[in-house]
Order: sequence, then C-alpha cells, then structure tokens
Amino acid sequence: MAETNMMASSKGSVNSFAGKKVWITGHKGMLGSAVVRSFANEGAKLLLTSHAELDLTDQAAVLAWMEENRPELIFHVGAKVGGIHANATLPADFLRDNLMIQSNVINGAHRVGVQKLVFVASNCTYPTKAQQPISEDALLTGPLDDSIRAYAVGKIAGIELCRAYRKQYGCNFISVIPPNLYGPGDNYHPQHSHVVAGILRRTHEAKVGGKSEFVVWGDGTPRRELLHVDDLADAMKYIMLAPATHDLYNVGCSHDLGISELATIIAKVIGFEGKIVYDTSKLNGTMCKLLDSSRIRSLGWKPKIEEKAGLRSAYEDFLHLLQTPEARARIG
Ligand code: GDP
Repeated sequence: MAETNMMASSKGSVNSFAGKKVWITGHKGMLGSAVVRSFANEGAKLLLTSHAELDLTDQAAVLAWMEENRPELIFHVGAKVGGIHANATLPADFLRDNLMIQSNVINGAHRVGVQKLVFVASNCTYPTKAQQPISEDALLTGPLDDSIRAYAVGKIAGIELCRAYRKQYGCNFISVIPPNLYGPGDNYHPQHSHVVAGILRRTHEAKVGGKSEFVVWGDGTPRRELLHVDDLADAMKYIMLAPATHDLYNVGCSHDLGISELATIIAKVIGFEGKIVYDTSKLNGTMCKLLDSSRIRSLGWKPKIEEKAGLRSAYEDFLHLLQTPEARARIG
C-alpha cells in the first residue's frame, strides 16, 4: 500500500501521448468512440476493453486487468447512460452500475499508480435551480431534478471519489462536466435516447413515412446546451495534457437553445417541413442548465464544431447506420 501511495503522489505532468498506455473505458459508446477516433495520430498505445472482455462492474476482474495491463492514463468514459425517460424508469440500474463501475476504475487507477485520469460526469449533477450559467462551485448546493436524481447522485459520487483520491493520495484525477452530447455513434433507441437522437429519429421517420407532423417530448420550453462529442473528446485530451489545477471543469459551448428551436433546426437539417407536435405527457426535466465554461476557456480550450454542421454530421451518421441490417437492429 505504501509503495502504491508513493507512486500516486510522484506523478509529473503529461507532455505527450506518444508511447503512453492509454485506457479508454466505454470505447464502443458515442463518447468513447470519439476519444478513440481522436487518437488516430498520437502514437499512443490504446487499451480498449469490450464489455465481453471486461465487465467494469466486476471489482476483482477490473483490478486484475489493470494490474496486468498497467494503464498510464485513463479516460474514464464507460458508464450506463440514457435519456430522460430511461433515467426516470430505470433509476436503480443507473445508480448501481455507475457506482460500481466508477469505484472499480478509480480505485484501480490509484492501486496501479495511473499518472492521470479524466472522469466524465454530467450536467445533471448540478442543482435543478442553479444560477445560470452554472459554475463548478454550484455542485452540491441544492436539490437535484427528480427525473434524473439517481444518475446524478452516481455521477456526483464519481466526482467526489476523484476528489477524495486527490486529497488523500495525491492522485491526478480530474472530472469534466459536459452539457447534452450528440454526434456519431449516438443511441437512437426510441425510448432511451437523448434529446438530439430522439428528435432526429422521429423527424426522419415522419419524413420517410410521408407524415405531416412529428412529436417532440415535453412542451418545448426547456433549454439545453449542446456539445458535439468530438469537441468533448478534444477537451478531455486538452485537460489531460494541460497543467490543470482544478479538479472539475465544465466543458460547454456557452450557449443554449429551446427544445422547440432545436426541433426546428433538426427538421431543417433533415428537410422535413411538417408541424411540430408537443407530447406534454412526457417530462420536461430541468428547465435550463447552461454551463459556465470559463474555467476551461482560461486554459485556452474552446469548441470547434458549429451546431448546424454538427447536427448535419449526426444525421449523416444516422443515415449511414440505417444502411446495414446489423446497425438497424442495434438502433432498435
Ligand atoms: P436531460 O438533459 O438530462 O434532461 O436529457 P435529454 O437529452 O433526455 O433531454 C431531455 C429534454 O429534451 C427534456 O426537456 C425532454 O422533454 C426534451 N425532449 C424532447 N424530445 C425528446 C426526445 O425525443 N428524447 C428525449 N430524451 N428528450 C426529448
């Protein structure tokens, strides 16, 4: 144990990814695959484990794998994720799985002396009535939105675990909080997807089905800040290399839009001119959660992907998925 602690506290800064053993957990998901894509020319040795190879909820298996493979840097992306409906209906699954996965990966990172770890949290960790734009200091200052509380508590526990290992053992573990993500590799499940994928799919189906309208959940008034996954992947790598002094960074694009505006933009991208109908039996969730991203901006990072271009690329990805039977089966 003493030896492990010494390793943890003697870590210097990371200057380059070249030759480094980098573990990206959850590499098959939307964000994980974006992080993998971003490593095309870095000369790093990527460690990738599918769920079949390593179940991240299995404490003994995770530790054994880490001891054998000795990652030096970790992008901890792997988590059970889903949209507002999935979170409202499967709270036990979200909280249990994420608590187990985080504990195993973060404790394992300490045990094997990982040089630096970046953990991905979520904007739902902030209080539902937090002052906008929401600064990192708002964490744990008020009640959470009921629709997403279990998932949020899990992610807050992950942030606090990183902080605790920093404080107690000097581990260089940092958390990032993104806004609502979208992009290639999204989950288009009719019930479990996030807002962009959900609206994109239903608008596309309305268009090809010759319908005159498409349905948007809630009343259209909540506001959401969007970020393309490639921008978040870029920011996480930036933080890995930067002399980041804080343990928590918001990573947003610094503007939000109403769900009704978002639906209008998506309809334009898809080329559907029908009417938007609101299903108010579905949850609105938190009304707004615009992040204050000045902390990461002060490190010199900013997003590169403009919303409309990003949404177009997301739609192209969806169309691409529809071309193969396996992918069609995967999107449900
Ligand atoms: P959240 O930001 O954590 O609430 O996650 P979501 O990405 O699921 O966004 C939920 C917001 O988008 C709520 O205000 C929903 O009412 C609204 N929304 C509108 N249409 C959809 C849809 O098709 N899927 C989802 N997930 N949300 C939708």
